[in-house]
Amino acid sequence: MPIRKRSILLRDLRNYLTFLKDYGFSEIPSESGVTLELQSGTKELPYSSIDTDDTDKSSHIKTNKNITSKPNISIENVREELGDCTRCNLHKDRKTIVFGSGNPHADLVFVGEGPGADEDEQGFPFVGRAGRKLTEIIEKGMNLSREEDTYICNIVKCRPPNNRDPKPDEIAACNPFLIRQLQAIRPKAIVALGKPAASTLLGRTVPIMKERGNWYEYEGIPLMLTLHPAYLLRAYTIENRRNVMADMHKVLTKLKK
Ligand code: URA
Repeated sequence: MPIRKRSILLRDLRNYLTFLKDYGFSEIPSESGVTLELQSGTKELPYSSIDTDDTDKSSHIKTNKNITSKPNISIENVREELGDCTRCNLHKDRKTIVFGSGNPHADLVFVGEGPGADEDEQGFPFVGRAGRKLTEIIEKGMNLSREEDTYICNIVKCRPPNNRDPKPDEIAACNPFLIRQLQAIRPKAIVALGKPAASTLLGRTVPIMKERGNWYEYEGIPLMLTLHPAYLLRAYTIENRRNVMADMHKVLTKLKK
């Protein structure tokens, strides 16, 4: 193998192992179920001890539900319907409408809260610090391609001033477009990132620390609740990181069914 290719492979491998260690893994997960020890004598729980049972008691999911029926609307239709939206006050301070990005035919959709300054500037969701964390979780943690395997959007498409939480009337004004986006994509699974996204999709106030890691259903589509990457950055504990990875492991298992 050419030396350059080998050094790139080694660099990628080192980054991946660092990522696994950072997220509390002490073994290298593999498709075959075989695990290799990452670091002997670690105090952290091994990967296999993470509760990855996605048939947990609080699960509301019916996995045999037909969720593959083809939508009769396209994501482009939904974007056209949204237009140069002025339906709520958020339009007054926004630079860009951040509609969504990724593959509109993806099996997996992540739903966040709302654009921040970077997203407002660039017009794409999750491109700031929290976005880099999300990309890391998708690409290193789940071994998926963010652009090809997922679609990412938010419950509101315009930046709330000073990064405040979106107000109920703003969420309500944007909700028809979120619903239409999800109807157009019709993924195999949705992941709600954090309390506002979880509460919006479930139509009730969700205590996210309590309910994360469980399956719910959104219009017949399996819905996983997990922590928001911005929260993860703020509370960068091994427990939080391990919990998020356990949630994503359940999502991967669901996608394979
Ligand atoms: N960026 C987004 O697009 N959404 C969030 O919820 C946070 C950051």
